[in-house]
Amino acid sequence: MIKHLCVIGVGLIGGSLARVLREAGYVGKITGASRNPEHLQKALELGVIDHYDTDLSSAVAGADMVFVSVPLGAMGAVFTTIKDSLENNAVVTDAGSAKASVVEAVKAATGEIPAWFVPGHPIAGTEQSGVEASFPDLYKGRRVILTPARETGAAAIQKVRAMWEAAGAVVNEMNVDHHDEVLAATSHLPHMLAFALVESLARMSEQREIFEYAAGGFRDFTRIASSDPVMWRDVCVANRDALLAMLKIFRADLDDLAAAIEQRDEKKILNIFQDAKSARDAFSE
Ligand code: NAP
Repeated sequence: MIKHLCVIGVGLIGGSLARVLREAGYVGKITGASRNPEHLQKALELGVIDHYDTDLSSAVAGADMVFVSVPLGAMGAVFTTIKDSLENNAVVTDAGSAKASVVEAVKAATGEIPAWFVPGHPIAGTEQSGVEASFPDLYKGRRVILTPARETGAAAIQKVRAMWEAAGAVVNEMNVDHHDEVLAATSHLPHMLAFALVESLARMSEQREIFEYAAGGFRDFTRIASSDPVMWRDVCVANRDALLAMLKIFRADLDDLAAAIEQRDEKKILNIFQDAKSARDAFSE
């Protein structure tokens, strides 16, 4: 059980965790914190939080669990603000989509990798943002990756693991760098492709006609280009090296496909598509 949860950043990710933990009866009281009182008032009206505070250091007072779910670029400032106000027994975890940058931000704020901090990343989300988009089933059956360091306390890891399991998630542990490489390939690269494709089409002169005739394939492929631009700008900055490495590999593969089309190499084109279909079908199963 968590007696008092403080959610810093009550948006899609923080709001969904608050909702499911309340529904599961796993939490006593929930404080919400962020910059904008109107967003927090909305969260209060929706019953996601019990009260709120725009002063992050007073928001964490009394909390035995603090969940930081703000954009990656805001993590450093949040940790600097809260570090001296945390309770002695408080455990802090986060939701950031890249992990090395958050660990660095915590280290810069506190001068060490504290035993009370458990880096985490729920592999769940939608292209929507804000508390209105949050829902309690977001984490049901989904993975959450924790990337604890040698310095992270075993009891803190256990408390965070138990919280995510109460939210219906399956928890894995992974090394920070491995996490950032895997997520660059499976999440960050596809978002770059979706953003780049839609932006490229939107700039073409016949754009109105292009979007008029766009159908299911376009909709499926580009849904994630509706995701929050600030969040994804921050992911690019935070996971720059791993993302650039993935883009380099993908660019070479796209050049190979273009060359096969140019050379009318039907066999090669078919091979690429058959391999892709097998991999996608296996993933769906
Ligand atoms: P979101 O819906 O936009 O919510 C972000 C929240 O952070 C808002 O409530 C915002 O409230 C608050 N915030 C922003 N800047 C802040 C600051 N400087 N200080 C305090 N609060 C601040 O975003 P989200 O999708 O929940 O994403 C949150 C985190 O989860 C990000 O780190 C993201 O990388 C990670 N994540 C997202 C997904 C996804 O699919 N969306 C999946 C996994 C992980 P105010 O405007 O009131 O400040």
